[in-house]
Amino acid sequence: MSSVPNITLNDGNAIPQLGFGVYQIKPGDTAEAVSRALEVGYRHIDTAEMYGNEKEVGEAIKNSGIDRSEIFVTSKLNNSFHEPDDARAAFDRTLEDLGTDYVDLFLIHWPLPTQYNGDYVSTWKVMEEFKQSGRSKSVGVSNFQPEHLDRLASECDVVPAVNQIEVHPYLGNEVVRTYGRDHGIATEAWSPIAQGGVLEDEIITGIAEKVNKSAAQVVLRWHIQNSNIIFPKSVTPERIEQNFDIFDFELDGNDMDAISALDKGEDGRTGPHPDTFDFIPG
Ligand code: NDP
Repeated sequence: MSSVPNITLNDGNAIPQLGFGVYQIKPGDTAEAVSRALEVGYRHIDTAEMYGNEKEVGEAIKNSGIDRSEIFVTSKLNNSFHEPDDARAAFDRTLEDLGTDYVDLFLIHWPLPTQYNGDYVSTWKVMEEFKQSGRSKSVGVSNFQPEHLDRLASECDVVPAVNQIEVHPYLGNEVVRTYGRDHGIATEAWSPIAQGGVLEDEIITGIAEKVNKSAAQVVLRWHIQNSNIIFPKSVTPERIEQNFDIFDFELDGNDMDAISALDKGEDGRTGPHPDTFDFIPG
């Protein structure tokens, strides 16, 4: 049905541009959703320690019978574990919970510039160790602003392979996307359909009617044509299938521009701002 393109990261590794996200899937439901996604053809799963479902993701991958090497697995370092030794122990636990001896991509989940004396640099140096050891094939960051990335560039060796940030039609996040493009850092767009919040927009529903696709498919296609890496989440079987079926049509330049013009800047942000977000789980 679909053929998902790969994007080549700055370290030479390839990542499927479309994957499956598992944030906010209820405990007990993740394994089933991931199994379904793997059956449909997804080969890229985005999880995090924070989501509390790495074990279930690992279970679904194991039970799928699909070779581990064919599935791109991402997880993330939780906010409590930025101190180097805590990060090392947390990464060990992530691999154990996923039941694998490597992940394809490991990210610092949030920069937390107002915590840990603003030191995400020593955390990044530990991420470099994970890459060096081969236990994370690629390493990256999430929710980093240009000034955070500038600091890594001046104080560290490895350039993050990706920056996973909030992007959807109501929050284009162009400044951060452009920084990534200029520095070889791929943009991963979280909440690609704004958790459903953009699907009633008349511009989007109008285009959907014209191209005979759903509003979600139109928005996901807009991301693909903008070179964003995406992993929409759903627990609904038809939607899991629908979100994978976005490679048999194309949006023309006018439709692409019309969707991009929906950008509301900061007013479109649904999640916390990376400069001020400081939550550390107890
Ligand atoms: P999404 O933008 O993927 O939206 C998910 C919501 O949209 C769910 O409520 C789902 O409902 C619904 N939905 C999915 N597909 C369709 C469809 N075809 N038609 C109508 N509704 C649909 O939100 P997420 O926040 O989950 O983002 C995706 C992934 O990004 C996460 O799962 C996670 O992996 C990552 N993420 C990372 C963050 C970070 O800080 N790094 C922050 C947030 C997310 P239902 O499940 O009921 O079908």
